[in-house]
Order: sequence, then structure tokens, then C-alpha cells
Amino acid sequence: MTLRALKQIIPALDTSDGAGVRIKRSIGQRQTVRMDPFLMLDEFGSEQPQDYIAGFPSHPHRGFETVTYMIEGHMLHEDHLGNQGNLRNGGVQWMTAGRGIVHSEMPQQESGVMRGFQLWLNLPAAEKMKPAGYRDIQPEDIPVFTHAGATVKLIAGTLTVSGTEVTGAVTRSSTQPIYADIHVEPNAQVSLPVPEALNAMLYLYEGNTNLVTGDERTALSLSAANVLADGDEIMLEGGDAGARLLLIAGRPIGEPVVQYGPFVMNTREEIEQALRDYQSGRLTA
Ligand code: MN
Repeated sequence: MTLRALKQIIPALDTSDGAGVRIKRSIGQRQTVRMDPFLMLDEFGSEQPQDYIAGFPSHPHRGFETVTYMIEGHMLHEDHLGNQGNLRNGGVQWMTAGRGIVHSEMPQQESGVMRGFQLWLNLPAAEKMKPAGYRDIQPEDIPVFTHAGATVKLIAGTLTVSGTEVTGAVTRSSTQPIYADIHVEPNAQVSLPVPEALNAMLYLYEGNTNLVTGDERTALSLSAANVLADGDEIMLEGGDAGARLLLIAGRPIGEPVVQYGPFVMNTREEIEQALRDYQSGRLTA
């Protein structure tokens, strides 16, 4: 086993999106800052309604998937297929835009804390134009296991821990995403396998933890994409207050990426086609 070291730190930048929702963006803050197959990671977290109340009114997507993980709060998704999904504490919405979806994502609360993440996962060329799909995943349908002082909630992918294979709520054969929310107990040391073929990062959102490689301990940066080097295992050591972090890994697609706002394709011509299709109402046809 080879422990993965820290390769690059991408601190999240404050920005706003939708109708003025305040977010912290790490991956995707610029089009050159990505980790194939992931395009973007936004962290939203506020107790101030003015930071989230405007939500994300009706807008299109084509060519990739969005994964929204709500830690705290209540958001309503509605799309052109007639899907309506209530995203609540601990739930996940997995939306496959494919050839096209038009949806809205609106807060259903006027006060209190809204906290969570939205991750954009690219699709390979062969899947970009497949029919749109949508899944509302309830918290109780997300596998959770404990291992060596850590609690791991496995939203996507497969992890083999102590000889037992655990499969998350979603699997994808092309990009093989692993998406886990890991809570590390204070001072606990936990190792998890992350296959060599996958690009991987850790996003620390609470507390502190070290990444252990041999004799070295490197503190992970808070609210940052801590991108990992090659290897097939990660080892974490929780700080005095423990830590909460996301493990995000996936198989790189290795194709050209051309993005224009909510459309992510392989060529400029395909982006122009997406714009024409959207303008003429054929994005979702
Ligand atoms: Mn959206």
C-alpha cells in the first residue's frame, strides 16, 4: 500500500451564484482549476437568510451531473421532467443533466442555517447526450459505517474496509466516483483505501486533521480542496476536536473540456449547439 501525500491546496474563494447565493468555490473557481472528472465544488453555509434566500431560479444544464449534499437546511428541486424533490438534513440530490435539464433549486426556509455542498461531475463524450435523470436520496438510504475512530457516510462508490466491501447510494461505471463524508474522532487514526486509478481530494469543512505519510504529518487546510498525490490509501489523524471532511475521488475522463456556464461539452461547436438548443426550447426535447 502507498499512502497518498498532499499534492496541491486549492483554497475556496468567496463568490456568489444563482440569484445571489453566497458560496465558497474551490474546484471550478477558474476553468483551469479542476480535478478530472470533477468540474466544481461549492460549499454553502450560512445562518444569514440574505446569503441563500434568493436560491437558484430556473436554469439549464447539459453534459454533466450535479450532486447536492445538504448537511443542514431545506431546499426544493423542480425540473422540466416534473420531478419535485425535497432536500433536507443529510439528504442528497443526484441530477444527471445528460442532453439537457431545466430546473430550479430554491430554499424552503426563511431563517436558520443552510449548509451543504454542490459537486459537479463530468460525463464522458459517450454519455453527455443521454437522457436526463434525477434521484432524490434520503439520509436513511445512504450507507454509514464506522472504522477505527471514524464514521463514514458513503454517498457514492465502493470502499473495502477490513475485508468488507461497502457500496454507497450511487455508483457510476465510467467515472467511478467515491464521495464520502468522514467524521474523524479526536486523535483517532484512520486509513481508507482509495484506488490508484482515481484522482482524489479531501475537503476539510470542520475541525482539523493531519494527513499521515510515513513519518510525516501534514495539516489539511480548512475550506480548501486538498488534492492528493498518487497512491492507493489515505491515512488521517484527527486533531484535538476531531474533524469533518469530504473524500472525493474519481477516474479521470481525459477528454477536452469546453465549458460555457451551465453547459459542459468537449468542443466549442457542441457548446454553440447547446446554446441554440436552449434558445429554441430543444435542450430537453
Ligand atoms: Mn442547477
